[in-house]
Amino acid sequence: MSKPAPISFEFFPPKTPEGAKKLEQVRRELYALKPDFFSVTYGAGGSKQDGTLQTVQTILADGHRAAPHFSCISASAQSVRQQLQIFKDAGINRIVALRGDLPSGRGTFGESRYASDLVAFIRQETASHFHIEVGCYPEIHPQAKTAHADLQAYATKVKAGASSAITQHFYNTDAYFRFVDDALAMGADIPIVPGIMPIINSTQLMRFSNACGAEIPRWIRLRLQEFGDDTASIRTFSLDVVTDLCDQLLTAGAPGLHFYTMNQSVATTEIIKRLSLK
Ligand code: FAD
Repeated sequence: MSKPAPISFEFFPPKTPEGAKKLEQVRRELYALKPDFFSVTYGAGGSKQDGTLQTVQTILADGHRAAPHFSCISASAQSVRQQLQIFKDAGINRIVALRGDLPSGRGTFGESRYASDLVAFIRQETASHFHIEVGCYPEIHPQAKTAHADLQAYATKVKAGASSAITQHFYNTDAYFRFVDDALAMGADIPIVPGIMPIINSTQLMRFSNACGAEIPRWIRLRLQEFGDDTASIRTFSLDVVTDLCDQLLTAGAPGLHFYTMNQSVATTEIIKRLSLK
């Protein structure tokens, strides 16, 4: 099986007291796997920056590394500056810098139009204080004019000062390795860590993947549909598929794995165990 590799786990800030209680347990289970860092989303699903910061601070206080996601879509330069200071004061030195999306496509853009502008601004304001992660899209961002334009947008983020990248989830390793090769050919040579989405709820996965332009290969989609309510079969199949995906990625040289945990620990833990990573 795969060689040991850095792993990281993504959470979203809990929205209810029950969600917070559940995340507390999940965090403890995942701490045991000694990840490189945790990241906490911002704004996704209507969450607020306060919840992101609070969750990050809890993880830091527990003695683990944590990075807030931070998006600039409708932020002013002054509010970004203030937020960066809050992060610095909280002892945070890693950020996932994103453009984000306007809620339901409405609203107005802030002073940073693209993630590359945000990355450049963070570097200008805080020099090398933050390790800056950016997002990237092996299967092409849904709003990109062309695949090449999307790759160029990624290379611009790297040039602006990104330290490493995390991909949108995918189940097609060719798309990932093609993206890595193309990025390298453009001189964008930072580590590109695959974002791994364990299949926990197939309906939710289909909906989410459609929205963010990630393809569920036909053979996976049809199998999942055929299983219907047979959760045991879905679980077995999904764990096999995602473990194989991770194994292929690491064997072929991916620099680590970033798990979209959906605030759940069971599937992620099982995949890591099967890969003998910890
Ligand atoms: P950008 O890199 O700015 O790209 C956005 C679009 O603009 C792309 O189509 C790109 O091709 C195009 N583009 C970029 N630069 C230019 C240019 N100069 N000229 C023309 N076109 C350009 N969303 C959240 O709300 N909260 C989160 O916490 C969150 N976490 C994420 C974590 C990861 C790892 C990833 C991959 C995505 C995450 N997202 C999150 C989703 C993300 O905000 C959306 O995908 C968003 O639409 C794009 O963000 P970006 O940072 O990739 O944008």
